[in-house]
Amino acid sequence: MSFESDCALAVRALQDYLTKAGAREEAVIRQPPMAELAGRLDLDRMITGGGLAGDRLERFLAEYLAASTRLHHPGYMAHQVAVPEPRAAVAALVDAVTNNAMAIYEMGPAAATVEDAVLRWMLTKAGWSPQTGAGVLTHGGSLANLTALLAARGRAAPEAWEDGTPRDLVVVTSLSSHYSIARAAALLGLGQNAVRTAPTDADGRMDPVGLAALLRTERAEGRRVMAVVANACGTALGLYDPLRPIAETCRAQGIWLHVDGAHGASALVSRTHRTRMDGIDLADSLVWDAHKMLRTPTLCAAVLTRDRRDLDAAFREEASYLFHDKDQPGFDFIHRTVECTKAGLGLKAFFALAVDGEAALEAYVDRQFALARDAAALLRRDGFTVAAEPQANIVCFRTDGSDDDQLAIRRHLTQAGDHYLSSAEHGGRRWLRLTLMNPATGLEDVAALATAIRRLTR
Ligand SMILES: *Cc1c(COP(=O)(O)O)cnc(C)c1O
Repeated sequence: MSFESDCALAVRALQDYLTKAGAREEAVIRQPPMAELAGRLDLDRMITGGGLAGDRLERFLAEYLAASTRLHHPGYMAHQVAVPEPRAAVAALVDAVTNNAMAIYEMGPAAATVEDAVLRWMLTKAGWSPQTGAGVLTHGGSLANLTALLAARGRAAPEAWEDGTPRDLVVVTSLSSHYSIARAAALLGLGQNAVRTAPTDADGRMDPVGLAALLRTERAEGRRVMAVVANACGTALGLYDPLRPIAETCRAQGIWLHVDGAHGASALVSRTHRTRMDGIDLADSLVWDAHKMLRTPTLCAAVLTRDRRDLDAAFREEASYLFHDKDQPGFDFIHRTVECTKAGLGLKAFFALAVDGEAALEAYVDRQFALARDAAALLRRDGFTVAAEPQANIVCFRTDGSDDDQLAIRRHLTQAGDHYLSSAEHGGRRWLRLTLMNPATGLEDVAALATAIRRLTR
């Protein structure tokens, strides 16, 4: 029993898992009770006595994978988590074995160089200069949003790092924004009440005219807007805020524009869909999750700033002792991140890009966005109400029943195990929600889902 033979065994088990999930041979989701699972996995005994290798490892993996949610099943339409390119998972193994905590260059020259290359690629896709722009990879979009808003606070109120957050700072976003924005405001000491919501159109997209009026009001009442946060795209419906007019308004008033592109910034890889991100050239910061639409294993989120100085000044405390001239041939990321020990997250995104090249990801984004439009048309034809014409790979729809009916439908489908979808609130109503992440999901899967729902509601 060795590292090599255990890996070979794990790879066989994973290949079998992938094959069966892809062929719909197992349920997309099963949720055994936790206590039962803990027993079946024999966790406590192995923690005490060891022995997780060889045959025991094989049995453990069989049980573990049996109770894992199958993202590679074509019926997986639930959450915004990538269906990872399996060959990109090799990077996670390499990162785990080498364990190069690359926030300082000496702890991972290769990992730091790969992260730098991935960030430069992202900056270029955003139309920002990799020379004057900057970035860092973090564990998820939520942490990335916090980091970007910290940089924004640093610009609006540099004294906040020493003296605490001034009482007159506010953040402007819309009701469609992800909860991590309100959380970041609370964590940064503004408090959730300092989050102002700009008016939107009926589909929840920020209204630039309403935004301009709100900014005037805030100023007239003596408050400073630390940042405007635009969605690209919003979480519930997957719709893009009109970035260009929002950016022009922010520019005219000297206000930081943060674009939360955790999910939808991947439109930047598509020649067809990158127009959704039009105006990004005028923004100050962008968050872009590779573990959503770039087929990268969880987690890998980028914080990007158009001006390198903004990110380098975000964590001012560290700057004093890290900005000395170290005699080293590489770059330290540590002053740009909350994390100290930092995984080589760039390797996973690099593998996801490099196994087939960026054109493969462009084709993937185009396919998933087109599938969402086709799915919406199919669901409408089948008599469902669709919340809004999809702009990304997210579709919200409902039957003509009550909100509770929608949740009951989701519960029944999840128990049946052929389809796994999520739900979201929008416009005061509960919607069934498809996030079409899986390149193996076809329109026939959406048709089968529609049939299953009709059978349930009859
Ligand atoms: C998913 C998402 C987030 C949160 O990102 P995590 O990586 O899940 O922490 C933030 N904003 C938007 C718009 C998202 O779609």
